Amino acid sequence: GPALLFVKTSQGKEEGRRFYACSACRDRKDCNFFQWEDEKVSETRLAAREEYNRNHQPCFTHKQNVDRYKNFVLLPLSKRRFCQECQQLLLPAEWEKHSDHQFLCDITNAQLKSPSQLLYPLENKKTNAQYLFADRSCQFLLNLLIDLGFRRVLSVGTPRLHELIQSKASQEEFSIRSLLLDIDFRYSQFYTEDEFCHYNMFNHHFFGGEAALETCRKFLYEENGERVIMVTDPPFGGLVEALATSFKKLMAMWKEGEKEGHDNKEMPMFWIFPYFFESRILDFFPSFSMMDYQVDYDNHALYKHGKTGRRQSPVRIFTNLTPSMIVLPEEEGYRFCTVCQRYVSSGNQHCEICNSCTSKDGRRWKHCILCKKCVKPSWFHCNNCNRCTLQKHSCEKTDVGCFVCGQAGHKRSACPSLSRT
Ligand code: SAH
Ligand code: ZN
Ligand code: ZN
Ligand code: ZN
Ligand code: ZN
Repeated sequence: GPALLFVKTSQGKEEGRRFYACSACRDRKDCNFFQWEDEKVSETRLAAREEYNRNHQPCFTHKQNVDRYKNFVLLPLSKRRFCQECQQLLLPAEWEKHSDHQFLCDITNAQLKSPSQLLYPLENKKTNAQYLFADRSCQFLLNLLIDLGFRRVLSVGTPRLHELIQSKASQEEFSIRSLLLDIDFRYSQFYTEDEFCHYNMFNHHFFGGEAALETCRKFLYEENGERVIMVTDPPFGGLVEALATSFKKLMAMWKEGEKEGHDNKEMPMFWIFPYFFESRILDFFPSFSMMDYQVDYDNHALYKHGKTGRRQSPVRIFTNLTPSMIVLPEEEGYRFCTVCQRYVSSGNQHCEICNSCTSKDGRRWKHCILCKKCVKPSWFHCNNCNRCTLQKHSCEKTDVGCFVCGQAGHKRSACPSLSRT
């Protein structure tokens, strides 16, 4: 889809030069598209680009994949193979072509219903960054959505939540539905065009064109009072500005859908993202607030559940729903603060001076009289800098610091808070 317009700034200079680059791949190794804003592109180069794009399409269209799936489920277990190298369900006639590839045999219906277990997670840090919810967190999210009375979930970059909803819906007479929007086209092998749209959340591009857009529009249209919520868990290296722009477009689609109009309401949303992006998200969505719930992941060594002695997850839920409605599990130590009117983590103490439960990371924060706010437990007040900071710091460094965590000495791309390997 469309590239994004970036600006290259060099230190000391007011205005930088503007250029277009790929919206989805922030690593030049994955996509080397680059064009100055004012650059004239020759016909030959345009043609070469189109040629390149034609040659880099997936082998099958979504429609073809749906047909293949239909044939696949008719096969006896012994003929159901999945090529691990091509990440593809194989029909018997294709075995030959993949003969020197590794494959999984006897693919069961249960496996087909949980593609996020079958496919390997794309861990490319800058592009896909697929971090799958731990069961505990996924179940918590689903139960929460049900308790809140939602019957439709627009799952944007949340394949595991989508799959949990799908399998639940097929088991019981369960009326909750999900539409998955994701850039990972491998999922088109498992879902129909009404269940999955190939989508780029950095530029709001539907690869399936007008038909896919219409599918999404229809899904957001709340028939028979079936309430919709959007849940998204974007790659954490993603640009908040680009994401927010796309999400606003999805919200606008929801708003257009209703004939009577939703008054001044916004489409309900859960945006799952690390707590240190709080101020960035609030810049774009002032109606949002951050919940204390720590979202855990399966394939992430650092962000797994805190109780086992590992680090606590920094990932939170941002929502425009009333915080008091988001009930967090007491058995995991969350409690309700009657003053703040929201559930907070066990370590989060209500500060009488701030009149709020101030901890962001789950640890108990302490109030600094001089800074007039609560700060991390590891910080102390430096009289030189006239603010609280880490014990180990060089005073009065006016370095702007990292955009993500605020600390000096590294840029956002190298922020240790984002490193998940
Ligand atoms: N925790 C979620 C997965 C989050 S990982 C779950 O368990 O369901 C981030 C997801 O965003 C992945 O599924 C990835 O494929 C998708 N993604 C990455 N870049 C994207 C983009 N530009 N547009 C849409 N989806 C994207
Ligand atoms: Zn293969
Ligand atoms: Zn409180
Ligand atoms: Zn305080
Ligand atoms: Zn201080």
